[in-house]
Amino acid sequence: MTERKENIVMFPFMAQGHIIPFLALALELEKKNGYTIIFVNTRLNIKKLRPSIPPNSSIRLLEIPFNSSDHGLPPDSENTDSLPLPLLLHLIVISPALEPAFRDLISGLVLEHGRPPLCIISDMFFGWSAKVAHEFGAFHAIFNAGGGYGMAAFHSLWLHLPYMKVNSEEFPMPGFPKGHRIHTKQLPEHFQVAVPGDSWCSFSQDMFRDWLESDGILFNTIEEIDHVGMEYFRQQIGCSVWPVGPILSSLGSKARAGDDAEATMHLCMKWLDSKPTNSVLYVAFGSQSAPSPSQTIQLAMALEACGKNFIWVVRPPSNSVTDHDHNEGEWLPRGFERRIQDSNKGLLVQQWAPQLEILSHKSLCVFLTHCGWNSVLEALRSGVPMLSWPMGAEQNFNAKMLEEEMGLCVGVASGSSEVNHKDIVKKIDLVMGGSTKAKDMKNKACEVMEMLNNAKNDEKGFKGSSAKAMEDFLYAALS
Ligand code: UDP
Repeated sequence: MTERKENIVMFPFMAQGHIIPFLALALELEKKNGYTIIFVNTRLNIKKLRPSIPPNSSIRLLEIPFNSSDHGLPPDSENTDSLPLPLLLHLIVISPALEPAFRDLISGLVLEHGRPPLCIISDMFFGWSAKVAHEFGAFHAIFNAGGGYGMAAFHSLWLHLPYMKVNSEEFPMPGFPKGHRIHTKQLPEHFQVAVPGDSWCSFSQDMFRDWLESDGILFNTIEEIDHVGMEYFRQQIGCSVWPVGPILSSLGSKARAGDDAEATMHLCMKWLDSKPTNSVLYVAFGSQSAPSPSQTIQLAMALEACGKNFIWVVRPPSNSVTDHDHNEGEWLPRGFERRIQDSNKGLLVQQWAPQLEILSHKSLCVFLTHCGWNSVLEALRSGVPMLSWPMGAEQNFNAKMLEEEMGLCVGVASGSSEVNHKDIVKKIDLVMGGSTKAKDMKNKACEVMEMLNNAKNDEKGFKGSSAKAMEDFLYAALS
């Protein structure tokens, strides 16, 4: 194989949970293999990213024209973290409208360089870009921001929506090995209310069909923990899959934090440094979700009552009418913030925290998470067990895998279900006390951490599974 140092075009969907891992992959491809990365996104996302790209990097940021107002969205709606759920779904559903502009962009690159890019790596929501890549003779891969098991369950159940309507409470997951069953209460809410033929269903069917046009799917996972998911895609879709994870970097998170990044980092690290090893609960719900007002109040009461050290990334509930300065009694208990500050038991971070660094701090004990795949991977990479509170998408299936298949997670709540602070406290006590369960979970999390490290190993003649998968992917793209 003669290696040509060429351009790779990367195009994530406009959400932090997609931009962050794409940027991490861009850095890895650039550093290890010397490719020039052309990173495509809409104007406001590129503007946020620009200051974070290291000066010595050859990553080139390229804007694709997009006017959210043309698609029934408020002006400048270019990222899901600024949108309530219905508009967030709308941004996904209208995303195929980017196709003509993307074709023009690739055409411009072909003119500029006199040849097509080596490869186009696009978001799972942009399956249509496979057609564009092939028109120009470029290799195409999807980089899936979800985990293998969760995405396989999402694919399987979405394609078999009638399964949702069966009366039995528990049913086998189509396309999964025998014995893999799911209970209706483990389904995300949008599956339960899905109406075949509505805009979201139609979008998903088109997306799954478009995936078949791609030359394969890169997953941010490892074969060792996600074999069932990888086999599902190999067998049921019949495509190449490359589990190349864990691909992690804090660069995208810093770009999102903007000017406050350094100050917030300093605050969090100083606070964590002052706490004993293995003593802190970290609570965060990713870049775009937040529990309802009543759930947020119960969570706050639980954190106050449990007596444990905690960091909580606090964000107003998406359906709340009040902001941070007017939350008293609405979605936080009266006097909560002042009491927490006075006791120094907790650190409340507004909106955005340096998550990767927090999870890898020695004081961290457990992560209460919505189970977005990046968050899961970041916790696993640091050997941190979890409490799950999935909010939607494929997060319920990620939680199921962590709890039932891997034994390093305990469920707290799901979606908009009722929660009571006393039950939350019980779960926190179970995983942060000295119980056998807590010890087992920590041991399992540490085992997985080691597997993740070994998978990336690529030195002295040894290639871990992810290093090998990356080599296979590049070989396929080059040949
Ligand atoms: N994140 C962060 N700080 C925050 C919240 C989120 O750095 O306060 C990062 C987190 O580390 C992860 C990403 O944002 O890399 C969220 O992705 P995930 O897949 O977990 O959830 P999503 O936001 O897509 O629901």
